[in-house]
Order: sequence, then C-alpha cells, then structure tokens
Amino acid sequence: MDFELSAEQRLFRDTLRKFVDEQIRPVAREWEASGRYPDEIVAAMRKLGLFGLTVPEEYGGMAADMVSLAVAFEEISRGWMGVAGILGSHSLSCWMIARFGTAEQKQAHLPALASGERRTGIALTEPGAGSDLQGIATTARRRGDAYILNGRKTWITNARHADPLPVLVKTDPAARPAHAGMSVLLVDAAAPGFQVVRDLPKLGYHGPETCELVFDEVQVPASALLGGAEGNGLQQVLAALETGRINVAARAVGVAQEAYDQALRYAGEREAFGQRISRFQAVQLKIADMAMKLQAARLLVYWAATRADSGQRSDLESGMAKVYASEVAMECAAAAMQVHGGYGYSREFTVERLYRDAPLMVIGEGTNDILRTVIARSLTSGRGSIG
Ligand SMILES: Cc1cc2nc3c(=O)[nH]c(=O)nc-3n(C[C@H](O)[C@H](O)[C@H](O)COP(=O)(O)OP(=O)(O)OC[C@H]3O[C@@H](n4cnc5c(N)ncnc54)[C@H](O)[C@@H]3O)c2cc1C
Repeated sequence: MDFELSAEQRLFRDTLRKFVDEQIRPVAREWEASGRYPDEIVAAMRKLGLFGLTVPEEYGGMAADMVSLAVAFEEISRGWMGVAGILGSHSLSCWMIARFGTAEQKQAHLPALASGERRTGIALTEPGAGSDLQGIATTARRRGDAYILNGRKTWITNARHADPLPVLVKTDPAARPAHAGMSVLLVDAAAPGFQVVRDLPKLGYHGPETCELVFDEVQVPASALLGGAEGNGLQQVLAALETGRINVAARAVGVAQEAYDQALRYAGEREAFGQRISRFQAVQLKIADMAMKLQAARLLVYWAATRADSGQRSDLESGMAKVYASEVAMECAAAAMQVHGGYGYSREFTVERLYRDAPLMVIGEGTNDILRTVIARSLTSGRGSIG
C-alpha cells in the first residue's frame, strides 16, 4: 500500500496549486461576491487542458487517472469551489460520452469538448424528481428520424454554456420497470424550442450558472441518442455519477483543506488574553479534529479513485468517500468559522464562503441520505464489503 502520489501526480498537483495561487485566489472573493462569471479562469483552464480530463487521448484529451482527477478538483476547490463546478458536470458528461457514445458521437463532440472550445453539463433533475430519477416526466417521442422532446429540467449547472447538453428523458413512458424506457439525448444548444428560462438564486456555488430549462417540442435527430439504443439512459447516467461522486468528494476535501488552512493561520495570528489563540486548548482541539477528519476524507477519496481506476464498480467506495468528505467539509467550515470569532461571519474573510459552499457537496451527485442507502444495499447484499 502506497499513500503517496506518483511523481507524475505530484507534478500535476504542483502545477495546479501554482495556477490556483496565481489566477484563482487573487480574484475569488471579489468575483464570487459580485456573481461575475470567471471567463479568464475558464480560458486559463483551457490552456491547461483541464476540459479534457476525462476525454481519451485519441480525441485530444488528457485521459487522467481518477486519482489525478481528484487532485485537480481538490486543488481548484481550495481556491474557489464554484470554479471546480464549471469542470464538474462537464467532466462527468465527457466521461459518459466517451464510455457510451457511438463512434460518430465521440468524433462529433469529444475533440471540441476536450479543448474547452465547447463545454457541457448534465440535465437529470426536474421540478418533480431529483433523487427519484425514474420519476422524471420529460419525454422524447420518436417521429421518423427524430425525437420530439417535451419537459422541464431544473438545477442544471453550466446550462448556458452546454453544447451539447445530455438530457435524461423517457423514450417509453409506459415501460416497466421505468428505467427500461429511459434514454439520454445529446441536445444541441441552438435547437428551436430549447430554452434556459431562469438562473436559480443560490446560497453559494457562485461562478457557474445553475438554471431551469424548458423543452417545448424540441426536435432532436435520432443520431443524438447516446449509444444509439433506447432504454440504457439510467444505467449510463448512474455509471457516470460514480465518477461524479469522486469529483464532488474531492471538491469537499479541497474546501475542508482550505477551512483548516485558514483556521490554522488565523489561530497563529490572533491574540486574546495576552496570547495567541492557538495556545488555547479549545482552539487546538478544533485544529486537531479538522486535521484528522480532513486527512481521513482525503484517503477515502483516493481509495475510491484507485478503485474506479481498476475498472471495477465503485458505487460503494465513491459513495462512502462522497458522504464522508462532504460531511467533513461542513464540519471544517463551521469549525474554521468559530476559530475566526466574529470575523468568520464577515464577507471579508474566506471562511464564510467555505461555509456557504460546503453544503452543496452533501446534495450533489446523490444526496447523502440516498448514498447511505446505496452503501447499505451494497454491503447487505454482499456485493460490496470492507475489512
Ligand atoms: C447548486 C446545485 C447544482 C445542481 N446541479 C445539477 C446539475 O447540473 N444537473 C442535475 O441534473 N441536477 C443538479 N442538481 C440537482 C441535484 O442533483 C438534486 O437537488 C439532488 O439530486 C436531490 O434532488 P431533489 O433536490 O429533487 O431532492 P429530493 O429528491 O426531493 O429529496 C429531498 C430530501 O428527501 C430525501 N430523500 C429522497 N428520497 C429518499 C429515499 N429514498 N431515502 C431517503 N431519503 C430520501 C433526500 O435525501 C433529501 O433530503 C443541482 C442541485 C444544486 C443545489
């Protein structure tokens, strides 16, 4: 067992850390507060090839291993978690197209997605169905060589920049079980009848837009059916979400690390009762707890990433990593805020942003409640095990 990153992974991490320190940290607070879209950061991420993280090399991507992917999301989230969100669903969908797309679909989309010339997201959630994806109401009726798409999606990150946007639909709404009638369509952003109707106001996760979408008689060519066969959509999406959970878990580790770093630094500077507050045992206990849980979360994420790299199913491991790391991020953000006293509540200090960003990781890519049921199902069925 090796707990160290490889030389190549360390070099990748150091490159990203430098990029975050030079190009994200100096602007994060101001741009996040103003709601400004980080175009310059996106341009820099394109130069680094980060939009191709999950794209095979033959299509111009980086084909990064999952540990490197986790390192990327962790480092970027230390600077600004919202920026990692711009890469998150993009990377998930690139992985899904590379894994399940037809040769024509891969050729048509992956090179431009890998370079970041075009970007993508994923449209699963609807006003009436989030965790219960088999309960979605968006339909795609086959008419000749096309599908006619009708429905509504909500909470869709990157929606104004996604082209194509993979959309989970029911191609056979009467199918039982429901997943047998579900498919993914790669929808062209310019398709008539497809409209981004509003940006949702959010507690945190500023940077990327998160939107509500309407599909009104949208005509999509049959060639846009992911993989070319109906009825595989839910499986395709669930497989992609396993990799998505590793990126969300890694984002949580990044947020927790930043909370810890901020708390440690502040505790070493602030004085009360004639001494640094880092000398008070109450503060020391918080620092120790943060460090232990943060490191445990990181190891769990790298373990899940290693499992995913081995080509085996990783729903148990990625679920455990995502649940634990997101809850550690919440705890660390709250503890860091307490260490900062009143200043932790100020918008002039980073910890308040961490406190607003951390809860998203509990919700995204499967809520922690749902993932606990996934973990338990895997363990009780004997399909997964630990120890
Ligand atoms: C900022 C943000 C960005 C997002 N980006 C995207 C995106 O890009 N694409 C996308 O498709 N979606 C996106 N989402 C949506 C997100 O994936 C959903 O919010 C999430 O899956 C939960 O769905 P829901 O909100 O409908 O909650 P619900 O499914 O209604 O759940 C409500 C509560 O009930 C609990 N619950 C539900 N069912 C069960 C069960 N069987 N057992 C135990 N507890 C249960 C849940 O854990 C939760 O606590 C985003 C959400 C946010 C907040």
